[in-house]
Amino acid sequence: MGFDISADEQELVDAVTQISTDILAPRAAAADANERVADETLKTIAEVGVMGLNLPEALGGPGVGSVAMSQMVTAITAACASTASIVTAQFLATDSILLGGTDAQRQDWLPRAAAGEIIGSFGLTEPGAGSNPAEMSTKATRVEGGWHLKGTKCFITNAGFADFIVVYAKTDVDAGHKGISAFIVDTADASAGLDFNPPEKTMGLRGSPVYEFVIDAIVPEDALLGVEGEGFTTAMRVLDRGRIEVAAMSLGISKAALDAAVDWAGQRRISGKPLDRLQGIAFKLADMYTKYRSAWLLTMDAAEQRDAEVDFTRSSATAKLAASEAAAFIADEALQIHGGYGFTRDFPLERYVRDARIYRIYEGSSEIQRTIIARSLTA
Ligand SMILES: Cc1cc2nc3c(=O)[nH]c(=O)nc-3n(C[C@H](O)[C@H](O)[C@H](O)COP(=O)(O)OP(=O)(O)OC[C@H]3O[C@@H](n4cnc5c(N)ncnc54)[C@H](O)[C@@H]3O)c2cc1C
Repeated sequence: MGFDISADEQELVDAVTQISTDILAPRAAAADANERVADETLKTIAEVGVMGLNLPEALGGPGVGSVAMSQMVTAITAACASTASIVTAQFLATDSILLGGTDAQRQDWLPRAAAGEIIGSFGLTEPGAGSNPAEMSTKATRVEGGWHLKGTKCFITNAGFADFIVVYAKTDVDAGHKGISAFIVDTADASAGLDFNPPEKTMGLRGSPVYEFVIDAIVPEDALLGVEGEGFTTAMRVLDRGRIEVAAMSLGISKAALDAAVDWAGQRRISGKPLDRLQGIAFKLADMYTKYRSAWLLTMDAAEQRDAEVDFTRSSATAKLAASEAAAFIADEALQIHGGYGFTRDFPLERYVRDARIYRIYEGSSEIQRTIIARSLTA
């Protein structure tokens, strides 16, 4: 349990941390207020390889392990959680192709995605199927020369400006989750059959828009991702990986909030004494640190298991559950330590609280993580 990373990985972690501090952090409040991370910001991080961190060198990525990647996702989120959400949605889309696609599909899509030339999106959730995606109603029917995709997806990060969306749909409605397949939808080619609603008005991650869309489009034969009927298995494998990234994002908010709270508690004076001399405040800091450190260890443990290519379903669920719950607690306590100042938009604390709320919901809510963990213990 060393959580070691190579010298090359460390160099990339340092570069990404530097860009996060210098470029992402000063732009985070504007991305939140404008409800969109600027394209130029995404271009800048793409230049250091961030959009393809999850991909091997052969497909244009840096070929880093999950331990190093988690540390980079944490650094990006500590600076700007909206940017991290756009980036990790790209990972969900490209992981779908990496894990479920054919060699030709990997070669066709992934190097361009790794370079940030194209943006991807992961279309699993529907109005009637969130926590249980097997109940989806989007259908894909074979037609002359391809597939007819028909249905509605909701809360899909990046979808409205994505170049491709991996859409999960039922190719056999009688086969339960085994009847689910995935399709790579080229949004330019399918544009006449894609109808996007305006982005949702979300509580947090406002710089990372999420969309509902209706799809009623014919896609070519080779849009089918890999093998028919394998879509659900691919989605679950993608989410096992994605949950480590949600844990890493949770750590980013936790770290930023904890650092802000420690700073503030050292400077703010009450009755002539710094706040951190008050036991009630010092205990809060200790509890925040303990939750942060526990979540960090669980996240690195899950990442290390993923790198070791052993089954990491339980450890990624455990890391996501612990880290997302910790982030909510730490962001809230950090705001509390800032008193009224924390409630103003002059400080990032209120944004941390809003942004951290999603980590307990997406890629499987805390309740679903508990179900996964309990099932793995009792099965
Ligand atoms: C900002 C944002 C970005 C998102 N990005 C994406 C994306 O890019 N791609 C994508 O496909 N989806 C995305 N989602 C969707 C997200 O993954 C779902 O919202 C999430 O899975 C929960 O589904 P739901 O909203 O339908 O809630 P529901 O499934 O209706 O759940 C409602 C409540 O019931 C609880 N619950 C459900 N089942 C159980 C159970 N068996 N036991 C106990 N409690 C249960 C849940 O925990 C929750 O508290 C995003 C959502 C948001 C808000």
